[in-house]
Amino acid sequence: MRKILTKYNNNHTYNFKYKMRKNIVAGNWKMNTTLPEGLKLAEEVNAAVAAAKPKCDVIICVPFTHLAPIAACIDQDVLGLGAENCADHASGAYTGEVSAPMVASTGATYVILGHSERRQYYGETSAILREKLGLALANGLTPIFCIGEVLEERENGTYNDVVKKQIEEALFDLSAEDFSKIILAYEPVWAIGTGKTATPDQAEDMHAHIRATIAAKYGNEVADNTSILYGGSCKPSNAAELFAKPDIDGGLIGGASLKCADFMGIVNAF
Ligand code: PEP
Repeated sequence: MRKILTKYNNNHTYNFKYKMRKNIVAGNWKMNTTLPEGLKLAEEVNAAVAAAKPKCDVIICVPFTHLAPIAACIDQDVLGLGAENCADHASGAYTGEVSAPMVASTGATYVILGHSERRQYYGETSAILREKLGLALANGLTPIFCIGEVLEERENGTYNDVVKKQIEEALFDLSAEDFSKIILAYEPVWAIGTGKTATPDQAEDMHAHIRATIAAKYGNEVADNTSILYGGSCKPSNAAELFAKPDIDGGLIGGASLKCADFMGIVNAF
């Protein structure tokens, strides 16, 4: 639990409250590592997290092929395990797809949905993502749902509206109970894999906007309890400054999750 400054009151003194939502650092390995490489990295991260006793939950999201063998060799009380995607159907003639029940059957408990690479390269729309979310939740998986604007939208000033629309279209059909099971990840697309990080102030402004959008629909309690992660070129050198912001509850980490020391540098930024 972390004591955070919320805002000035009328007497210009500070209001503090205790943050109940979880701090989380999640790795997104993307299409990297062979199975032996992945097993070695997962075992290394599991041992490092067990030794560090970090002030956040730690999760790795890995290729489908790696899920069952990694589930068998890590302690999920120490290190959570997730997939990077799941299908928008539960089963059937969808060659090459992997469904939410299949992911759950490996022992994994998280799934990244709506990553910008899925939206951009595989045409994932809000309608498709609503199907995936429903199936993930119905199979007991915790979605890590990604939202974020592209560079043009950042530069033309529409980024707040774009992100609000992504949330409304994909998530606002959910009951408050189901919405409360989701982790959000704000990932400005222009910062993913580019080495260009959003400044802590840019990220905090967007996270506060996301929380206000949630509060307007589901109320303050749900909004206050939603973990909102930042993703986009987060590394050991900038994580502490980002995580110090009141509405940033951790990170979704791509490139830097592929080396145990870098990933742990981010985990230990809390
Ligand atoms: C990501 O793809 O989720 C991501 C945040 O990537 P990177 O950390 O490499 O920018």
